[in-house]
Amino acid sequence: MEAGKEEGHSGKNRPLAWFLFWSYLLIALLCVAGVAWYSWSVMKHYYIDQARDMLKARALILEEELKPFLMDDSPLSADPQLRKLGQLHSTRITLISLSGKVIGDSQEASWQMDNHAARPEVAAALEGGTGVSTRYSNTVQKHMVYVALPIQHEGGMIGVLRMAIPVTALDEALKAMSGRILLGAFFILLLAAGVSMMVSTLLARPLQALTRGATRYARGDFSLRLAHPAPKELARLALAMNQMAAQLFERISTITRQKNEMEAVLSSMMEGVIAVDKKGLIISMNQAAARLFGRQPAAFTGLLLESVTRNKDFSRFVQEGLESGVFKEADITLYMGGSSKILHTRNVALHDSDGAQLGMLLVINDVTRLRSLENMRRDFVSNVSHEIRTPLTAIKGFVETLVNDGLEDKDQSGRFLEIVLRHVDRLNNIVEDLLALSRMEHEDARKKLSMQPCNLNQVVQAARSICLQKAAAKQISITLATGEPVMAFADCNLVEQAVVNLLDNAIKYSNPGSIITLSTGSDEGYSTICCEDQGIGIASEHLPRVFERFYRVDKARSRQMGGTGLGLAIVKHIAQAHGGFVKAQSELGRGSVFSIHLPARQEETA
Ligand code: ADP
Repeated sequence: MEAGKEEGHSGKNRPLAWFLFWSYLLIALLCVAGVAWYSWSVMKHYYIDQARDMLKARALILEEELKPFLMDDSPLSADPQLRKLGQLHSTRITLISLSGKVIGDSQEASWQMDNHAARPEVAAALEGGTGVSTRYSNTVQKHMVYVALPIQHEGGMIGVLRMAIPVTALDEALKAMSGRILLGAFFILLLAAGVSMMVSTLLARPLQALTRGATRYARGDFSLRLAHPAPKELARLALAMNQMAAQLFERISTITRQKNEMEAVLSSMMEGVIAVDKKGLIISMNQAAARLFGRQPAAFTGLLLESVTRNKDFSRFVQEGLESGVFKEADITLYMGGSSKILHTRNVALHDSDGAQLGMLLVINDVTRLRSLENMRRDFVSNVSHEIRTPLTAIKGFVETLVNDGLEDKDQSGRFLEIVLRHVDRLNNIVEDLLALSRMEHEDARKKLSMQPCNLNQVVQAARSICLQKAAAKQISITLATGEPVMAFADCNLVEQAVVNLLDNAIKYSNPGSIITLSTGSDEGYSTICCEDQGIGIASEHLPRVFERFYRVDKARSRQMGGTGLGLAIVKHIAQAHGGFVKAQSELGRGSVFSIHLPARQEETA
């Protein structure tokens, strides 16, 4: 757009060469006109002087011849004589007496002519000098050049002889001369135009090169270095422009590098950073912040932060921060795309170099996982305490009864001790499961696994053997649906424990007479173990949560069955420690299918 403007601008203006050319031409024109005019006027004066000298010379020649006409007392008209002489010399000749009376004229009848004493050239001659005048002649009605000489005889003036030629004769001579002067001037001008063109182009060329360089600098291309033109001032300008370009390049590079570093720092930050101005408009934000709102950072620039977050608490936090300029932090829950996020938000006032508030910087931490882990930890502690307290309360109750009542009643004592034993077993189970879970959850649990190629058919067979007795007690049969060996790179004992847990649940939550099927297979690079039962099933709302620690669909029933609520959590963690996962499908009243997916090959566990 800028470039367009620039072009439009330069389109209206003329190039420098154009101005230089016409200026030079104008100067040349003025000079030539001045010289022509001066030469013309010099010529004109020269011609007039020549004419005067010529007239004077002729007058002197004729002086002697005409004297007799003046010396006569009653003079005869000298007209015929003068007419002859006039024709001979192509000159008007007038003879005038001392009184100014015209005694003879070569062109007019003298007796008709008025007194000529007042004619300037005659008056001058009558005073004894040479009278010269260029004026209009009423007699012959032409512009004439007159020269009048006093005629002397024996030491006294006896009359005046006047010679005249028309100026037209001079004009014609001058006209011919002017024509030649004009032609010369025209050729000189033509030459001057050519030279102007050459000089203008030569002078404009280095400026054009400087302009091209400046335009490239304006576009941000600083690679060009300008050549130093011959004129000193332009060479200095080129030098200054080169220095300016080098400095600008260095500064822009520094700014770009600092900006890139800043962006790299901001974009590698886990915390979201948003800068807003005083009106709450987003100035910039980093990748982490943009990720929170599901778009690229550039998409948010200039938007009102309020319209992006659409959250009252967030808006209030930002508003209060902008108004007070005081550091604040808060946990704000944001609902987006059907899920909620807990954002720990801090604000820092943004100031310019003069200390004036520009806006605010928000540093946002997504603490959703952290808070949920904290909640889980709290829940876990309370669940463990609760799980342990129940059997402990029972044990305490029965032991107190035995202490108070004594051990006389052997039947009752035996029954009580059996109950105590059952609760101790339960406590033991809980502790065992917690320890197993803790082992699995430990970060380097995977490193401690004794991984080896494991035939899952043998694993399910071993697990079945362990659970057969328990199943038989409920008239439940466990069938194996295995074919070709299914291999996984795994810790066989742990996988066996996981299958035992699944079988244990299947037996617990199935009615007598039902069948449990254990099968193995492969699925998208994973080796799988499925445990399918025809038990009570799990309602869909509980299904996603059954792998959580202590989560039980029916607490009373689970406890009654000796469950700890940790069995499936252990299965999940065993699968995850191998780089695998678990799945559960179920239909209430029809049965459930639990599957363990383990990587089939070694590298996939790495
Ligand atoms: P528990 O020790 O209570 O069995 P688990 O973690 O093994 O704990 O299982 C969690 C819950 O999932 C159980 O309390 C039960 O409600 C449900 N459950 C697990 N396996 C089955 C199954 N095969 N059929 C029906 N419900 C099951």
